[in-house]
Amino acid sequence: MTVAAHPLVVRARELADGLLAPAAERVDQEGVPASHIEAIRRSGLLGVSAPVAHGGSAAPAAVVRETAEILAGACCSTWFVQTQHHTPVLTLAKTALPVRDRLLGPLARGELLSGVAYAHLRSYPRVPVRVRREADGRRFSGTVPWYTGWGLNDVMLLAGVTEDDEALFAFVEAREQPGLRPSEPMRLAALTASRTVSLELDGLWVPEEAVALLMPHADWVASDHPKTLNANPAVFGITRAALTLVEEEYAGVLRARLDEVRRHAYALADHPVPQERAEERLAVRAEAFTLMRTATEAAVVTGGGRTMLLTHRAQRLAREALFLLVQGQTSTSRAAHLRHLAQGPR
Ligand SMILES: Cc1cc2nc3c(=O)[nH]c(=O)nc-3n(C[C@H](O)[C@H](O)[C@H](O)COP(=O)(O)OP(=O)(O)OC[C@H]3O[C@@H](n4cnc5c(N)ncnc54)[C@H](O)[C@@H]3O)c2cc1C
Repeated sequence: MTVAAHPLVVRARELADGLLAPAAERVDQEGVPASHIEAIRRSGLLGVSAPVAHGGSAAPAAVVRETAEILAGACCSTWFVQTQHHTPVLTLAKTALPVRDRLLGPLARGELLSGVAYAHLRSYPRVPVRVRREADGRRFSGTVPWYTGWGLNDVMLLAGVTEDDEALFAFVEAREQPGLRPSEPMRLAALTASRTVSLELDGLWVPEEAVALLMPHADWVASDHPKTLNANPAVFGITRAALTLVEEEYAGVLRARLDEVRRHAYALADHPVPQERAEERLAVRAEAFTLMRTATEAAVVTGGGRTMLLTHRAQRLAREALFLLVQGQTSTSRAAHLRHLAQGPR
């Protein structure tokens, strides 16, 4: 079966064309509606990477990437809310801890939607969230700087660092409760619609059976690092969407470059050793960003002054592109991206 014919790709395309793209400028201003999340839940896309035995599709990486491109290109805010779900699913699929039996099925089938609160682990040795062991459970304290999907998702995979320098991940209900207080939803240059808040944790107690992952922080960094080296499919999704707004005479050339960079990025993503060719991966990631900025700029230039209206697609894509530049950034990818920019246009 070709990637384009995979049932989840077909469903993502139907959702994108029939629901997400037509509403995207309104959603950008008003927020991702619960009805969009409901449609995503019903589509089966929340189980794209989940084991078949638990109701998921365990789809090939190429299908996962294609569905991400399609959703991100149609409505980046909706894509971003639902993309958080896939890390919790993969974490549960890999664990033998009791929480797997409770949550993997409901998450794989889309009965529950999960967010994540773990990017702050990357700012180590700064530790924004600490975890203390207690009888029968753990207590979280500190500040989660970014949490997307507040009010839309049911549970969150929350991470902190223990007294023994371990990374600990546990599932928590995504609602205000003793020890967990959200900020007001943030007003952002892009993706305000994603209902992103910060979370104050003031001794939030979590039972031991909610723990999904516990490993030395250094080992977690080693497993996380390769994931931040590759180009994000959402970048190609935004690029593709922007090029539909550009006159074909110019879009054709840029589309050919997109095909080339995308092929290279995905060949690297499929390379069996994710730690290898780090420099090349980072260079291609930066190249993909450059192409995305070129495409969104071309869309703005094509449309002229009208593109400054908040109802215009080009400005929305340009702002969403800005967001993708920093999403998931680490000190390594930050340095590589800046090096690429300092080299100037080629
Ligand atoms: C709208 C939005 C929504 C988000 N939603 C979520 C979410 O739901 N869940 C979640 O877990 N995360 C979320 N994030 C976090 C996102 O993934 C992080 O923004 C991203 O990882 C970059 O982190 P940072 O720049 O905020 O963190 P920082 O800790 O400021 O920095 C990130 C990295 O860059 C390095 N760095 C920063 N400044 C310097 C410097 N001057 N010199 C050298 N190195 C430096 C740090 O060491 C670190 O590795 C969200 C972010 C945004 C903007």
